[in-house]
Amino acid sequence: MTKQRDDARRILHDVFGYPDFRGRQADIVDTLAGGDSLTVLMPTGGGKSLCYQIPALMREGVAVVVSPLIALMNDQVAALRAAGVHSASVHSGTPPEEVRQIAEDIADGSLKLLYVAPERLVSERFLRFLDHTRVSLFAIDEAHCVSQWGHDFRPEYQQLGLLAERYPQVPRIALTATADAETRADIRHYLKLEQAPEFIASFDRPNIRYQVIEKNNGKKQLLDFIRKEMPGESGIVYCLSRKSVEDVARFLSDNGLNAIPYHAGLSMEIRERNQHRFTREDNIIVVATVAFGMGIDKPDVRFVAHLDMPQSIEHFYQESGRAGRDGLPAASWLCYGMNNFMLLKERIMEGGSDDFQKQIELAKLNAMFAVCETAECRRVLLLRHFGEESAPCGNCDNCLNPPVRFDGTLLVQKLLSCIYRVGQRFAAGYVINVLRGKNEDWIRQNGHHQLSTFGIGAEQSDKDWRAVTRQCLGLGLIEADAANHHALRLTAAAKSVLTGGRQVWLRPLKREKTAAASGNTGQWLRTEREERIWQALRSWRAARAQDEEVPAYVIFGDKTLRELVEKLPENLADLHDIYGLGEAKIDKFGEELLTLCQSFARHDTAGSPASLTETVKEPDENPFADERDRRLWQALYDWRQQQAANENTTPHKICANDSLLDLVHLTPAEPIDLSAIYGLGEVRAGQYGNDILTICRPFADSLSDAAKQQRERMRTLLHWRTATAQAESEPEHKIFSKITLRAIAAKAPQSQEALRDIHGVDDDKAERYGQEVLALITGGAEKDDGGSWL
Ligand code: ADP
Ligand code: ZN
Repeated sequence: MTKQRDDARRILHDVFGYPDFRGRQADIVDTLAGGDSLTVLMPTGGGKSLCYQIPALMREGVAVVVSPLIALMNDQVAALRAAGVHSASVHSGTPPEEVRQIAEDIADGSLKLLYVAPERLVSERFLRFLDHTRVSLFAIDEAHCVSQWGHDFRPEYQQLGLLAERYPQVPRIALTATADAETRADIRHYLKLEQAPEFIASFDRPNIRYQVIEKNNGKKQLLDFIRKEMPGESGIVYCLSRKSVEDVARFLSDNGLNAIPYHAGLSMEIRERNQHRFTREDNIIVVATVAFGMGIDKPDVRFVAHLDMPQSIEHFYQESGRAGRDGLPAASWLCYGMNNFMLLKERIMEGGSDDFQKQIELAKLNAMFAVCETAECRRVLLLRHFGEESAPCGNCDNCLNPPVRFDGTLLVQKLLSCIYRVGQRFAAGYVINVLRGKNEDWIRQNGHHQLSTFGIGAEQSDKDWRAVTRQCLGLGLIEADAANHHALRLTAAAKSVLTGGRQVWLRPLKREKTAAASGNTGQWLRTEREERIWQALRSWRAARAQDEEVPAYVIFGDKTLRELVEKLPENLADLHDIYGLGEAKIDKFGEELLTLCQSFARHDTAGSPASLTETVKEPDENPFADERDRRLWQALYDWRQQQAANENTTPHKICANDSLLDLVHLTPAEPIDLSAIYGLGEVRAGQYGNDILTICRPFADSLSDAAKQQRERMRTLLHWRTATAQAESEPEHKIFSKITLRAIAAKAPQSQEALRDIHGVDDDKAERYGQEVLALITGGAEKDDGGSWL
């Protein structure tokens, strides 16, 4: 691993709290951090933001991020701030004082990311400002806005090419989730990225389970799905019309679900309020037209349901892709029927597009229909549409419960020949009536009661024949002419079936109950106790989110919650191993989380624990037995109470309980000792360092010998790190993190192997610094034998 990759990884872990890069993120970060421009095509939820956020933290200067929507910018900035990254956005709504502050923060180099709208970026005024600013990189998000092919064309995006000429030394990254070739060509052309490498990620979203069912009573089927498979989860339900949005939202509410409507017919105010509620609240369901979704970045949407079939695979992919952006199991559920298909066809035919465009739209609709009708892996079909070949996924309804198929050749032949006999001029309903031998006036008037195919399908029900028809449409054996009342026609492929040259396998005509889906997101919550912790953490998160006026997932995501429940961390060090918790979040919320988790550990079998607010306020008992330790702890504790009172805040905001314990264990005597203490970041050390040292110094000498040695080793290591960082012109944390240094000081490893066992010491580090560190440690041991070497 090169050093640069190592740094990127450390930031991923320390700042964002994630253990590994996903897909091609590592290569992308490496390229951009190294100063090269590139384009990135990655599906929604793939993790595009980190691709430029991490290089922004690695490079000098401020990263300028172009984003088309204020909501999108605000979301990103909120998430970055929560991770302790200094970032900001400027747009029409930013007050002038704030703009001035931002300019100052850029000037003094403290601001790492700045989000701007494209029109501001290309304004001469802003460019003149940038001329005198050190810019680390330009990131152009939603880069497809540059192209007229896309749906979100923004003319200002086309001017962004000037960045290449005006700032040739600044690397640029263009990111999008829109796949088609024309758009990609436009991005490269307008943004002057012709020479730049293109990183294309797989479009697979393995955590999404696809499920498609035939509609008979859509609302009821939806309710069953939510109740059985997604109780208490957040989701989006898409409907085709405003009317059905209202209707379905009311139906779900009436049945006790937390459902709200969203469509373009609602007032701006209601729309904003509902969108806001959706991003902020847990277990809320939005019922919406496709107007809903663009710019909504809620990673913990657990399901997306379609009550009508979307008009293309692209639409379906984009909409269903809003589920499970956090990588946890999520579901795409689709309910479709033939009427739905016909209606969409009609819309296309009656729409304003020219004939050529209509043909494209019809082809797209047919492709979507084929995904619904297929008996094969749905994911294989979806990905093939995006040019990706794959093997059956094992995580869609067809893979999980393979539909049994039967030889339907004879039935299909009957249908095809009947369509042919009635002159390919009649819709499905009519054809089926002829097949079933219905005695109807219209059929008589047309003389179709005399056809050889009249009544040859009398044994099958109307519903059965509709199923056969749908499958034939899906298989491309027939088509429905939308320009002619959906008259059924044979395609070229029908011929070989009619002549007996091709067998046709059909799915069972009677719909089988879809087996209860596996992989339910709630499944891991096995015990009642875990469920209680989960709920307690969720309400804690909701409360914090409200305090901070950010969406819950900005505090942290479900996956973090889940790890907290599973691992029940006991101390700050444990928290560092929890997914999604970087230094800043641990600093801020660590103490509260520990209190909460520990209250459950203590109340293992008892009923519910005291509510969090109570447990946090609960007077802390002196945990020490030894008289010296007791006195020091009490002195520190009293100081913290006093300080909290002075600042009008809660004691744990001054410093964590773990910090107090640590101060007693390591009893700092010098300022440098403070940097070894858990939970005392630079900010707190700067603020309270003097107070703490004044309290601790009288106790510094009475520390046990073993603890004194550890303190001594830590000093040595900290001095060494400062010197090494200076020699290598690197920030100190890039040499070893504080946590790692502490572990080294505590364990005093005597060999390379023992050193490598310590978290944060990988092969590369061991090779680079191992000898020096071991020498320091053993040097420290010699000193304990009596020598004074400092
Ligand atoms: P996109 O912009 O591509 O739709 P985001 O950048 O918003 O996706 O990322 C989606 C979610 O995935 C976010 O919650 C983000 O924090 C998370 N994420 C991104 N990269 C990783 C990673 N390497 N490990 C874990 N989670 C990640
Ligand atoms: Zn599959």
